[in-house]
Amino acid sequence: MKGSLMVPADTETMKGQACLSQEADRHPVASPLHSMVRGACPSLSTPMQTGDGLLVRLRPSAPGLTVEQFRALAEATQKHGNGLIEITARGNLQLRGMMPESMAGLAADIDRAGIVPESGVAIEVPPLSGLDPSEIADARGLAERLRSAIDALHPKPLLAAKLSIIVDGGGRLVLDELSADIRLKALKVVDGRQLWTLAIAGTQATATPLAILSNEDAITSVISLLNALAAIGLRARGRDLDIASLRAQFPALPDLMRGETIPPTSPVGIIPLDKVQSAIGLRPAFGQIHAQDLIHFLGLAETAGVREIRTGPEHSLLLLGLPLDRIEDVLAAAADCNFQTRAGDLANYAIPCAGAGACASAHYATRQAAADLVEVGADLLDGSLKVHLSGCTKGCAHPSPAMLTIVGTATGYAIVVNGSSSAEPVAYIGKEDLKSALATLGELVRNNKAAGESAQQCLKRLGRDAIATALRQG
Ligand code: SF4
Repeated sequence: MKGSLMVPADTETMKGQACLSQEADRHPVASPLHSMVRGACPSLSTPMQTGDGLLVRLRPSAPGLTVEQFRALAEATQKHGNGLIEITARGNLQLRGMMPESMAGLAADIDRAGIVPESGVAIEVPPLSGLDPSEIADARGLAERLRSAIDALHPKPLLAAKLSIIVDGGGRLVLDELSADIRLKALKVVDGRQLWTLAIAGTQATATPLAILSNEDAITSVISLLNALAAIGLRARGRDLDIASLRAQFPALPDLMRGETIPPTSPVGIIPLDKVQSAIGLRPAFGQIHAQDLIHFLGLAETAGVREIRTGPEHSLLLLGLPLDRIEDVLAAAADCNFQTRAGDLANYAIPCAGAGACASAHYATRQAAADLVEVGADLLDGSLKVHLSGCTKGCAHPSPAMLTIVGTATGYAIVVNGSSSAEPVAYIGKEDLKSALATLGELVRNNKAAGESAQQCLKRLGRDAIATALRQG
């Protein structure tokens, strides 16, 4: 890749039983019965054309699916599409490769399986809400009350298609890294009252806090914000709200009393719930699995005792109901079926989108690049940062900023440091130079990391210029 760096310019299941193949967000099904206007979303009724056919994204309304339901979903994807199933960064399911004439059959099979896609405005809660004893507050309960309040509105507010609300009760698997238009986060306070922080437009770290509220006030305040958004217009998002006027509406924000929190847990690996129960988090290799492999694994998991499967953030699947003495067997089986099974797997930290061959917008094969990254850039993948491999500037696989993002362009790749896929790159590299650039970035960390320093700390200390220089000289 020497000499080809360009100056930033215009951006744009049981072990031994091998599986047959080794190989973005919440947009509810548009329902003619639901008068809340939604934009064009890849749902069962409005699938999206991609490079490998039609794509459907769905979020079941139930917290989880039975093994039987998950199997039916996989079989339907195999029968009506190309069999590829993805879990998005927000924990939605994506089914790929359908034709227009196959959509009715897919919808009928999903309906027959008793899977009801969520409809209306998206309200996301941590996947283990209700099961996690470390959860500060019952997020799912508050979300259900909020949903009922929204459904009771007359007239219905007309809201942007991608509008999202996060209700996060804390606990082991939090949604801090997901961006949302409106977010409620549980606080544990000294006198035992349950309070929530209300914030708008961003991740937990970047959203603008507005107020600390009781359960009831949290619901009425979110409704008020939804009405304010509807008044702005059909495309209005949280960032369009007028902060100054909101500050006048809400009481002065007291010092945030965050109370007791526990460090967040990776959604991949064994997640203890209590003395007799654990959730098992798996991630399909680079977020995608073939239905044939999934069906094979589900048979093994069901035999071992898995009773429910939930989807989670970071492209994860969470298995519930497994007896503790079967966990290692199931993890081994999952690894054989090309799941990532351990929090420390290097591949957990390489985040590709669907990429070339699956998405018509992609400028490169992101999954192959992710495999190359694991091969040559392991020093980057120490768990302190994520490398986002995005086929274009849309950034479906990791909508929030990542420490490193490799964005496909018409002429090569843009390298973004500590930003989203649409942020200004520090450098461009040529079409043929990606693997060597990934190796260069890995070497940069290996050669410069101070004792006790993580890859992320190292890159932050070196800064954008040093990274660009290393790529130029690599
Ligand atoms: S980021 Fe771009 S290339 Fe990747 S899946 Fe999204 S639209 Fe397609």
